Amino acid sequence: MIWRTHMAGEPTKELVETTLVLAGWVARRRDHGGLIFVDLRDRSGVTQLVINPELAPEAAELAHQIRNEFVLRAEGTLVARSPETVNPNMSTGHVELQVESLEIVSRSTALPFQLDEENVDETLRLRYRWLDLRREKLQRNITLRAQMVGIIRREMEAAGFLDIQTPILFKPTPEGARDFVVPARLQKGRFYALPQSPQILKQLTMVAGFDRYYQIAICFRDEDLRADRVQEITQLDVEMSFPDQEFLFATMEQMYARIWREALGREIETPFPRLTYAEADRRFGTDKPDTRFELELEDATEVTRNSEFGVFKSAEAVRFLRVPQELSRGDLAKLEELAKEWGAKGLAYLVYDEEGEMRSPIAKFLAEDELALFRSDPGTTVLFAADAWPTTSRVLGALRTHLGSELGLIDEEAFTFLWVYDFPMFERDADEGRWTAVHHPFTRPTADWKERFQDDPEHALAHAYDLIVNGNELGGGSFRIHESEIQAKVFELLGMAEQEQRSKFGFLLDALAMGAPPMGGIALGIDRMTMVLARDPNLRDVIAFPKNQAGVDPMSGAPSEVTQEQLDELGIRVVEQPG
Ligand code: ASP
Repeated sequence: MIWRTHMAGEPTKELVETTLVLAGWVARRRDHGGLIFVDLRDRSGVTQLVINPELAPEAAELAHQIRNEFVLRAEGTLVARSPETVNPNMSTGHVELQVESLEIVSRSTALPFQLDEENVDETLRLRYRWLDLRREKLQRNITLRAQMVGIIRREMEAAGFLDIQTPILFKPTPEGARDFVVPARLQKGRFYALPQSPQILKQLTMVAGFDRYYQIAICFRDEDLRADRVQEITQLDVEMSFPDQEFLFATMEQMYARIWREALGREIETPFPRLTYAEADRRFGTDKPDTRFELELEDATEVTRNSEFGVFKSAEAVRFLRVPQELSRGDLAKLEELAKEWGAKGLAYLVYDEEGEMRSPIAKFLAEDELALFRSDPGTTVLFAADAWPTTSRVLGALRTHLGSELGLIDEEAFTFLWVYDFPMFERDADEGRWTAVHHPFTRPTADWKERFQDDPEHALAHAYDLIVNGNELGGGSFRIHESEIQAKVFELLGMAEQEQRSKFGFLLDALAMGAPPMGGIALGIDRMTMVLARDPNLRDVIAFPKNQAGVDPMSGAPSEVTQEQLDELGIRVVEQPG
């Protein structure tokens, strides 16, 4: 006995008159005055089965028991459909299988939801993920992801990168999140940390002489979950010795071009444009600009320094957006609410109506030179942010993104990739006022800052870069510090005393002191890439078995309690019982 001769998406006119065997799931059953129709589905598609009680009485008898999602095996002859029943929307729409024998291979209990039902509660979907994954959209997303990973591997290998596996049970590798820790039974009171990325390990593969490394790596970050974050991130992790930025960028660009071509049939333009961090911040108010639309930020600070309008005069920076629409009072009130959420104190504006007349509560304070700068075409609203520079970036950058989609300014078909580089090396921790690394502490300063980053950490630039598409950060990387002394200086600036440096990163410092080559690399998020490729805004829908936003897997119930015996073995006492 064979299970199947073809996949359900394969039967076409060319196969008419042949005997086929198909096996798959029942997507739908319809009874039509004697004839029974079943849509039989597998990963490749759907074929319509016809069961005629006169030709196949046993099969017809059995067919009455069939329910959605039963597994069937059907043998029969492929026939052409009559012209009025052809379905041109299906690849198999010209044919149907005239069933001769039928077997119910596996039954299903009542379904918690139908596969074609829309807006099913996500917890329910995750609880029955095996069913949810049978849906067309999820089949497509997961397949696309696999296809993409295949291309990535082929491209990386063609470019001479070796796939090297690094451990999951390791020591803290900082990427700015909290660590997941695992108790070590054999070393009571000690813990492994799951790597936030294989950063240190991949650098060690370079010190070890492997020259080019890559891995499809899982990174664990115990973060508070938001809509666009998960705790287990999959990334393409890359490192090279004697790094050449042009080679690295070109390899990534070529890889993306191939993914887009093979998975979507789309050509994307390479090389990708590049922007410095400072320019991205100045023009778009963010380090991940969506360049599918214009609407750039403008700076009025020079002109408003002597303004009669106190708010403008006293602000460190006054910047504005010229929105190509006459916004109503209601719109403006809503935008002001948003601006406040992002840290603005208010939202000043000027409206030029369709006749070119200007209305604004602040008009009377503005001098000629200010008005000359703000003057815009009829049907424009000028929105202002007057504050510290970073606040104006945050507020106008967020308003820009919001208005881009709200006003339909975005070309939804476009993919705009770009590199952002020359990031600041350090930033102050908001709570503690300490310096922290913007990228990670292994990132090297730019050549310009190599000797003096300690003297002016606020302005020091890092040799780091991010890759952006449509306003999403796909990932980023940097050139690394390969000099043990410079690495120690960076640790020191980050507030790490020598003893702490030794206990946390002694092995790295030792390795860097034993013939470490210059090195650099990048990491690109596979989950995020799939979201962009599939144009799916739900991160969990590009992951086969994701956790929900509370970090819980509604299917298995993980995380779960362990037995007292296990705890005793580990020497662990649970202080707070699960609520
Ligand atoms: N380790 C970094 C990250 O995971 C990427 C890199 O610097 O290569 O974001």
